[in-house]
Amino acid sequence: GRLFDIEQVRADFPILQQHVHGKPLVYLDNAATAQKPRQVIESIGHYYQWDNANIHRAVHQLSERATQAYEAARNKVQRFINAAQREEIVFVRGTTEAINLVAQSFGRNRLQAGDEILLSHMEHHSNIVPWQLLCEQTGAVLKVVPINDAGELLLDEYEKLLSPRTRLVTMVHASNALGTISPVREIIELAHAQGVPVLLDGAQAVPHMPVDVQELDCDFYAFSAHKMVGPTGIGVLYGKREWLEAMPPYQGGGDMILSVSFDKTLYNDPPYKFEAGTPHIAGAIGLGAAVDYLEALGMENVAIYEQELSAYAAEVLAQIPGLRFIGTAQEKVGVLSFALEGVHPHDIGTILDHEGIAIRTGHHCAQPVMDRFGVPATARASFALYNTKAEVDALAAGIRRVRELLG
Ligand code: PMP
Repeated sequence: GRLFDIEQVRADFPILQQHVHGKPLVYLDNAATAQKPRQVIESIGHYYQWDNANIHRAVHQLSERATQAYEAARNKVQRFINAAQREEIVFVRGTTEAINLVAQSFGRNRLQAGDEILLSHMEHHSNIVPWQLLCEQTGAVLKVVPINDAGELLLDEYEKLLSPRTRLVTMVHASNALGTISPVREIIELAHAQGVPVLLDGAQAVPHMPVDVQELDCDFYAFSAHKMVGPTGIGVLYGKREWLEAMPPYQGGGDMILSVSFDKTLYNDPPYKFEAGTPHIAGAIGLGAAVDYLEALGMENVAIYEQELSAYAAEVLAQIPGLRFIGTAQEKVGVLSFALEGVHPHDIGTILDHEGIAIRTGHHCAQPVMDRFGVPATARASFALYNTKAEVDALAAGIRRVRELLG
């Protein structure tokens, strides 16, 4: 049987109905950000049209509705990633802010000179730079776990790098530049065997596969709504309750306190301790609607559908002469990074754009990965649940056209 009705799904995404440069839009830049179904767009419109108010403080009807909708979104996220408690779901701006929060709030008091933080060679800049800042502040050092030529983490090297000095392991769950899915179970088991907590950057995993934080047993998990058909400006830090309880606030302000005086301020409990100021209420509500949308399709189904589609794409693109994939891991999400002999990635992107095809070209905020493979940039097609084999065929035809023009 069919996993879901793809025409029905496509009809839910108004933006996909348009033409670009006179051609039907083929949107294959989903790793950068995904498109939004009308259910998400409407939930945000509904909030602003009917319920807009500040949350948590007022007794009036609109504030009660806004609070209810905001907190309901937290419950939806909790269920979606199977967190044990709703208090473990902290709303933040996105993956980047979630990681910075952990780096500062978890790391700043806890780490000392000579302590080590382990990460992989395929991290997004947002899972590198916050740790470099922390290292500057504390004297801690980064240790980089290498990857092989397929773009797979070298687990035995990881094991060797885990040491009594390791204070935290922070790894990408699925790489945005290569598509590689990290061996997260092994990573977490090995770290926990040494008593080391683990943060996973789930920005490219949550939109494409079922994620169960209790089953993973990760200590922290970060992701962004906008890559999972939700709005920009909102994301999630999952943290185990005991860590969140022990960590100091990230920012100070309203809503994160129980009481304030000039002598002593008492902090609120998690998650509110980490949600200073008026949050992105509409964003959280939109994220809740995105979760509803994905759950209705079923993340198992989404994963199978996208795996089939990207396997098909890998097969079709592999037949193009001069095309070389960067990142050929066994376990991948639907990200295809490639180079075309004699053609600059930027020119691939420009010519494809004229065919109505949106891909990404550049270093994908993962310059160490580009260095590892000896390229300044790649062209990257990345898939979402609304893409089709016909679109893959259009991509392949577009790349062949690039070769005719420039190859
Ligand atoms: N990590 C990965 C693997 C990503 O793909 C991205 C977004 N490209 C980020 C982190 C950062 O996410 P955001 O910009 O939404 O904070």
